[in-house]
Amino acid sequence: MYCTSCGNQMMQGAEFCPSCGVKTNNKEEKAFNVEDRNSFGFNILSFFIPIVGLILYFVFKEKTPIKAKGVLTWGIIGFVVNLILLI
Ligand SMILES: [Zn+2]
Repeated sequence: MYCTSCGNQMMQGAEFCPSCGVKTNNKEEKAFNVEDRNSFGFNILSFFIPIVGLILYFVFKEKTPIKAKGVLTWGIIGFVVNLILLI
């Protein structure tokens, strides 16, 4: 990784740049990931209404990829189950 301020190469996961001392955004990224986990409610919703799961996937994928993957997976399972029940 490189410093966003001076372009100096830094150690992976460094909190401050050793060259110019500017704070890196490592901590902010970690704070985002706290909320990134599978949501039971959204997964159930995606299972019963797959199209909602697909929409939620595109809404979540930027900031919470784990949650997004969960709703997408359950949306696909729900879609397949609905298809089987229709046949
Ligand atoms: Zn720097």
